[in-house]
Amino acid sequence: MEGLGTLLLFAAFFYLMMRFGCGAHMVHGHGGHSHGTGKATKYIDPVCDMEVEAEQGYGKMHQGELYRFCSRSCLDKFDADAERYLNKERGEEHEM
Ligand SMILES: [Zn+2]
Repeated sequence: MEGLGTLLLFAAFFYLMMRFGCGAHMVHGHGGHSHGTGKATKYIDPVCDMEVEAEQGYGKMHQGELYRFCSRSCLDKFDADAERYLNKERGEEHEM
């Protein structure tokens, strides 16, 4: 009986790791966050977090803000569910 309880606890822990640990890493791709640097010529693709230069990729106006995307597929994803990607940006702030 005791062993089963430990296993469940471990499973729950593992689930949380997958959800908040690995999931976040997959979205980030590479280490440093670099938005809010004040550079006017670079945009952050909100779908894949890549830097996109002003004359590269695809642009889209959304709620008065211009967003740029590295590729057509990122633009399509954003188009399909813009709020999700924007909320992701906001909810992702780590307090370290
Ligand atoms: Zn992209």
